Amino acid sequence: MPIDSWHNPGTTDPMQTDTQTSLRIGGLTPLTSVDYPGELAAVVYCRGCPWRCPYCHNADLQDPNQPSEPTWLEVLDFLERRRGLLDALVFTGGEPTAQRPLGNAMAEVRALGFKVGLHTGGPYPERLTQLLPLMDWAGLDIKALPEDYPLVTGVPGAQAWQSLRLLLDAGIDLEVRTTPMPGLDAPAYLDRLSRRLADVGVRRWALQQCRHVGTGGEHVDLPIPRRLAESDADIVAATGRFERFVLRAA
Ligand code: SF4
Repeated sequence: MPIDSWHNPGTTDPMQTDTQTSLRIGGLTPLTSVDYPGELAAVVYCRGCPWRCPYCHNADLQDPNQPSEPTWLEVLDFLERRRGLLDALVFTGGEPTAQRPLGNAMAEVRALGFKVGLHTGGPYPERLTQLLPLMDWAGLDIKALPEDYPLVTGVPGAQAWQSLRLLLDAGIDLEVRTTPMPGLDAPAYLDRLSRRLADVGVRRWALQQCRHVGTGGEHVDLPIPRRLAESDADIVAATGRFERFVLRAA
């Protein structure tokens, strides 16, 4: 599938060809204690993403057409050998929900006795609805206020906020994460964003420092990211709005 057809999930079905039966993966982290709160997990990095955030730290995963390394069968074999040692597998990306085989893969992980975590930006709310029964925990990236998504991803952001509503209504164990794009990280802006998240019912919010290096590279005109500090007034205010708030370093 040509890469251009991935850019706008609102107009083009971004799923890979009907003949694709296995996830295309760009990497595996065999053990982490930070990607699924409270659980020992492995992480698979799924290929493909419909968005092109200028500060993307996983730009090498955006192309869905690269071969799977490792293959999904190799991941299953790895999990078989980690029974009793790992609690969960987390699907991240790229954008995992961009791949049609994700549901089957999640079900296979569950069948092996592992919990399933999902990192997503929420570009496909309809597909997320089908995946809800297959996940135990989700980390949802909310990149900006909905009206500002075109500045970050190049497409409208209603889908991400719709996905947030779905996850909240389904009662999925959820952490919302925001890595503010440089230029959309001023105190007044993040204060509005944290208010909006709290107002819609988010209880756990992680604000993550954006790195200045390791980005997509083609957009070198981004300003220097704001250095977020726990003493900043907007961050102090956010601390009081959520059941759990964390400021994560880069
Ligand atoms: S930051 Fe995430 S959503 Fe944005 S282009 Fe990179 S992988 Fe896709």
